[in-house]
Amino acid sequence: MNIAVVGGGWAGLSAAVRLRQYGCSVVVFEAARTLGGRARRVSSATLNTRIDNGQHILLGAYTETLALMQELGLNVPDLFLRERLQLHSADGSFSLRAGALPAPLHLLGAILGARGLGLMERLRIIAITTRLRRHGWKVDGGMTVAQWLAQGRQSPRAIQLFWQPLCLAALNTPMDAACARLFARVLQDSLGGPGHASDVLIPRVDLSQLWPDQVAQYRPDGTPGELAVRPGCAVRKLQAWSSHVNVDGSRFDAVVVAGNAPATHRLLQQLDPCESGIDYLSTLSAFQYLPIATLTLQLERPWNRVHPMLLLKDFPERMQYGQWLFDRSASGPADSQCLLNIVISDARAFMEHSRAKVIAATIDQVREQSEREADMPGVRNHEVIIEKRATFAAVPGLRRPSNSTPWPRIWVAGDWTDTGYPAVLEGAVRSGKEAAHAIYRTLGSRLAQ
Ligand SMILES: Cc1cc2nc3c(=O)[nH]c(=O)nc-3n(C[C@H](O)[C@H](O)[C@H](O)COP(=O)(O)OP(=O)(O)OC[C@H]3O[C@@H](n4cnc5c(N)ncnc54)[C@H](O)[C@@H]3O)c2cc1C
Repeated sequence: MNIAVVGGGWAGLSAAVRLRQYGCSVVVFEAARTLGGRARRVSSATLNTRIDNGQHILLGAYTETLALMQELGLNVPDLFLRERLQLHSADGSFSLRAGALPAPLHLLGAILGARGLGLMERLRIIAITTRLRRHGWKVDGGMTVAQWLAQGRQSPRAIQLFWQPLCLAALNTPMDAACARLFARVLQDSLGGPGHASDVLIPRVDLSQLWPDQVAQYRPDGTPGELAVRPGCAVRKLQAWSSHVNVDGSRFDAVVVAGNAPATHRLLQQLDPCESGIDYLSTLSAFQYLPIATLTLQLERPWNRVHPMLLLKDFPERMQYGQWLFDRSASGPADSQCLLNIVISDARAFMEHSRAKVIAATIDQVREQSEREADMPGVRNHEVIIEKRATFAAVPGLRRPSNSTPWPRIWVAGDWTDTGYPAVLEGAVRSGKEAAHAIYRTLGSRLAQ
């Protein structure tokens, strides 16, 4: 069986690895030169080094992603700086740290011991999460995160210091628009699982090196078939029949289209129209995307902050939009020891202003909020990467399709499919795996031949 995968992001590559395990011959077509999609390495001429297209973190709860890396023969502990869940604001006004107690006591202890919140505020955080746990981590599907927090009587300070940064980091969608059900799913996975599920994993190597680069060399034992990767190869035309598909004129038995929702829509809309196809395409075109900006600062020397990941307080009225600060001196490879990454989720406001002004304001923000602990070294250079379509807007009521499509022999994969997760790496990996399963279930008898 010959299967084409269009898109070498984490979803497409995950599908490719599984299909290869089923004995298929797989060709991955990727438009970019580097594998990894929205989680990939880029070359920065300004910084004269390789950086990521945006700072990513993984969670201990990303079980499928970590299992996939292991299957590829990678030594997972070497790839990450792994820490128990802890949140520290750069200015020292707020901190929380999960202890070594078994779940869910580790969380209870973390919240009870949180610095920067009053006792009542901490008890209300415990109350709202306990209620969520009792309701099987389910929230009314039409509710926003802001409404859910109001219902749970969370104080403005608890929202500002604790909930807002978590919501933006998890959903990249502002609280008054973000889907409470998806947020609850993130909380369930990270806080409702075993203690290590809430661990934070900061990559030590670049995102393509984490595992996408390994896929082309992947050889499962004793199975036939090949896995070929064609970077720099954008697919322009798909055709589907009951017996086969054509991908830019080459014949395959099936295809997994693993672009983001707009790219997938572009390819599928060329197919012969069918009744359910119209509804399917309108579901795809309903996805709205939101940007994330990452400002990387190259310092004159490593800063060596105690905590590699710090919360920043944002002041939009001063164009200080930074929300998270990552000091790469502890977690990065040798060539990124002097780098700081500042993450700005939902970066729409950032994009409305002059870039130079926002960068200057954000550097001031980091400097001002860090004064207490240690003087920030001088900034030698900087780079800004804005991913305009970083994640889909995780709004209530969004319809998300499964991996199968109305067209014969065409499946889809991507973080936007019906994974139950927001747009995250684990969702992408699971979606790819599920697409491979779906092909196997449908064409299975022939796959064995
Ligand atoms: C800045 C930023 C920070 C993020 N932070 C986190 C984080 O901390 N933790 C987390 O879990 N998630 C994070 N995410 C989300 C995560 O990166 C995505 O959920 C995930 O990478 C999506 O993978 P995907 O394979 O579904 O899609 P994509 O990565 O978009 O892959 C699709 C691929 O298809 C290719 N393609 C499209 N059309 C064609 C075509 N016609 N022919 C050939 N190739 C094509 C594209 O070039 C792309 O490589 C972040 C995203 C961004 C942008």
